[in-house]
Amino acid sequence: MPLEIGIDLGTANTTICQKETVILSEPSVVAINEVDGSVVAVGSEAKEMLGRTHKNLCAITPVKEGVIANFDTTVSMLKAFIKKVTKNSFFRPRVVMAIPACVSEVEKRAIREAGIAAGAKEVFLIEEPMAAAIGAGIEVARPIGSMIVDIGGGVTEIAVISLGGIVVSNSVKAAGNSFDEDIIGYMKRKYNLSLGTITAEEVKIQIGSACPLKDEITMEVHGRDSVSGLPKNVSVNSAEIREAISESLEIIIEGIKSVLEKTPPELAADIYETGIVLSGGGATLRGLGMLINKNIDIPVYIAEEPLNCVALGTGRAASEIKKMKGIFVGD
Ligand code: ADP
Ligand code: MG
Repeated sequence: MPLEIGIDLGTANTTICQKETVILSEPSVVAINEVDGSVVAVGSEAKEMLGRTHKNLCAITPVKEGVIANFDTTVSMLKAFIKKVTKNSFFRPRVVMAIPACVSEVEKRAIREAGIAAGAKEVFLIEEPMAAAIGAGIEVARPIGSMIVDIGGGVTEIAVISLGGIVVSNSVKAAGNSFDEDIIGYMKRKYNLSLGTITAEEVKIQIGSACPLKDEITMEVHGRDSVSGLPKNVSVNSAEIREAISESLEIIIEGIKSVLEKTPPELAADIYETGIVLSGGGATLRGLGMLINKNIDIPVYIAEEPLNCVALGTGRAASEIKKMKGIFVGD
């Protein structure tokens, strides 16, 4: 029974780790009975109900861009997840939770309170880029500058870390979900084809890329003709999808450049040596490392388990709460 756990309360997924192991990973979704307000399902079970509910049932995603948008629902969700991993134990766990680098004091308090209300004995907060860096295997306490770029669903967080603290950071609103929206816009403009976000995400994962591929890939996309309203199939290739997402990629690159410009020279010199580490689901886009390297001329590495970096970092921090004391936020 884990007494120290780390939680990445993400926009898309909530992941819980104990030490270096993922012990739960479920969509951040809650299904609620609108008549009496009771929780019907959470996680994977609730996600299946998204878009398929009837008038007395609604499925909601209580976390938006990494911030709690619906407090009570977030508490219900966390409670259910914590209960699952602690197996109804009598003991309350100590919890390390990741928060976006730029949340307000009010939001920090809300996250802490949500953790306590959900059954934690104590809640420690860690900034997401710091957790991502730890989860990516960076030794954050060293007197050496490291850069982590976490490309999530809603936001890309860029940070320079040294001596266990964040020296410079920036977050831009271009990330995984922006690519999906770019694809929707492109298909509509070019082919009069309306797509849903799930299909757009599939297109991105199957044929999306940031750099030209040796063999460009083609895919049949099913949607609806935006003029006639009837079902329609269009064949698109990876070069077109690359063009569709190019502006969002540009925004991410500009975001990285602006952080480098604000980085003190000694640390910038370290980063030229140690390179940039990419984490988050967006880091799995083909050729993204190469594109950043082409534009910035610094080596780029993709973390080993990009989607789990933040969660693994919280799990690791939770297992060494005493040693990590200095890196937690606000206490
Ligand atoms: P968050 O922390 O905001 O919940 P994640 O780090 O879990 O976000 O990343 C989610 C994003 O990663 C989504 O936009 C998803 O579409 C994208 N993603 C997941 N797998 C892939 C893949 N293989 N290729 C491209 N994007 C992916
Ligand atoms: Mg994340």
